[in-house]
Amino acid sequence: QKDISIVLKNLGILDINPAYSTGKIWGPDSGAATIESFSPVNGKKIASVQVATADDYENVMKTAEQAFLTWRNIPAPKRGDVVRQLGDALRANKEDLGTLVSYEMGKSLQEGFGEVQEMIDICDFAVGLSRQLYGLTMHSERPSHRMYEQWHPMGIVSIISAFNFPVAVWSWNAALALVCGNVCVWKPSSKTPLCAVACQHILANVLQANDLPEGISALLIGNAVGDMMNHDKRIPLVSFTGSTRIGRHVSAAVAGRFGQTILELGGNNAIIISKDADLDMSIIGAVFGAVGTAGQRCTSTRRLIIHEDIYDAFTAKLVKAYGQLRIGDPLDQHNHVGPLIDTAAVDMYLKAIEKGKSEGAKFVVEGGVLEGGNYTSGCYVKPCVAEVKNHYEIVQEETFAPILYLIKYKTLDQAIALQNGVPQGLSSAIMTLNLREAEQFLSVNGSDCGIANVNIGTSGAEIGGAFGGEKETGGGRESGSDAWKGYMRRQTNTINYSNTLPLAQGIKFDL
Ligand code: NAD
Repeated sequence: QKDISIVLKNLGILDINPAYSTGKIWGPDSGAATIESFSPVNGKKIASVQVATADDYENVMKTAEQAFLTWRNIPAPKRGDVVRQLGDALRANKEDLGTLVSYEMGKSLQEGFGEVQEMIDICDFAVGLSRQLYGLTMHSERPSHRMYEQWHPMGIVSIISAFNFPVAVWSWNAALALVCGNVCVWKPSSKTPLCAVACQHILANVLQANDLPEGISALLIGNAVGDMMNHDKRIPLVSFTGSTRIGRHVSAAVAGRFGQTILELGGNNAIIISKDADLDMSIIGAVFGAVGTAGQRCTSTRRLIIHEDIYDAFTAKLVKAYGQLRIGDPLDQHNHVGPLIDTAAVDMYLKAIEKGKSEGAKFVVEGGVLEGGNYTSGCYVKPCVAEVKNHYEIVQEETFAPILYLIKYKTLDQAIALQNGVPQGLSSAIMTLNLREAEQFLSVNGSDCGIANVNIGTSGAEIGGAFGGEKETGGGRESGSDAWKGYMRRQTNTINYSNTLPLAQGIKFDL
């Protein structure tokens, strides 16, 4: 296990002022407030970072506006080459950045490395994309006319991100937004500010090495920054990843000024376990989905909808698997489950268990907080499992913790109705070897989620597909497929190369 001060030193962020710029200038030492970052792994303070003041905010926005004028004129494939260099820099820093993610956020080291790998992958994707920002051409109804569409950058894109993917979410947005010709201003979660400083520093070095102007990527840390962005007309697009509660507020505020949003909000993801499922595979998918990242993924498995014929056998297997889980330091690769992000998250977990019990939940694996020994941070909890009804209030909510709910079903129609019967619509899955069941689940009569899997759990996704969900998950799409279109404005162009001016729809207008 690496000494964290060496990690910070390797990443070059030990003695710099919290970065808000591309690196040529750092934030003025204004004596502004600071945020202290504590590790949930052991409760120790890692470092303090400076909070952006209103002046910092103004400086960043003005610099970003100026930078956009340059960046938008650099050909997209050349912008792609800068993102390629970001990918290379991330490769070189993978071990240190992944370790910092694990230490500051509390996810396992493997998942920390996985997050950085995802950043590298999206950079590779964006490099290819930089030569493929295609528009369509259409046949005009008027003679000697040409009609086509093209895609232009929007301007300043603000990226507001959640604590649980402290580096990957930024890169999904930034890599695409940058090749599309936008400049980015990032407001990370105040719970994981050091990960953000490290990423900004890595990109800043790349931008500097290419002699690019200040302001193409900037970082603003501090809780007040979010609302400044929501109301700032200079920001045409706010890409927000976080809870449904805050997302609702962001969405209304940005829509109020006719700004656009990409919303990636909470999930309440279920796996249907059919009587025709491969049960061993289903157990692995369900347990990893429910306890991986200590249940703090937007795609974490929160509900299992199990066929009545196999319900008892499957539950017994599940209880046995939970008995084998090792909870502890996420940097120790022998452990399966690390801590929650902070003690406030532990309180939410405890309240959810209490509420569940008051509504009738029957716990088959009990929860609880771990204390003493290696658990002094107070953030380690026991993953638990409860038998419930889908309509319980607590089951309808996303509790960001390792609590798994079991629900019994008789028919596939009923299972799909239960799966869809929550306000959120992010990820969903069915475990079955029955082709008819799989196809029904994926059909128009099946899952209503943005992600629907067969014989894969709900948790995690590849960067090549568009990522996001419906209903209270917000409807946004990020990452692969044509999600890039969300970062550009579409323009339809019609060119008349005839000697007359025929009007559309055959309208006559003679003078
Ligand atoms: P959160 O909503 O508490 O915070 C998210 C971000 O919003 C943070 O940066 C926070 O500082 C900022 N914020 C707070 N108030 C704001 C305001 N008024 N205006 C603008 N920004 C504001 O979420 P969290 O606890 O950090 O993350 C967990 C949540 O994120 C879960 O609900 C999870 O499902 C969701 N999430 C969703 C996805 C997805 O892709 N769908 C991915 C990761 C996390």
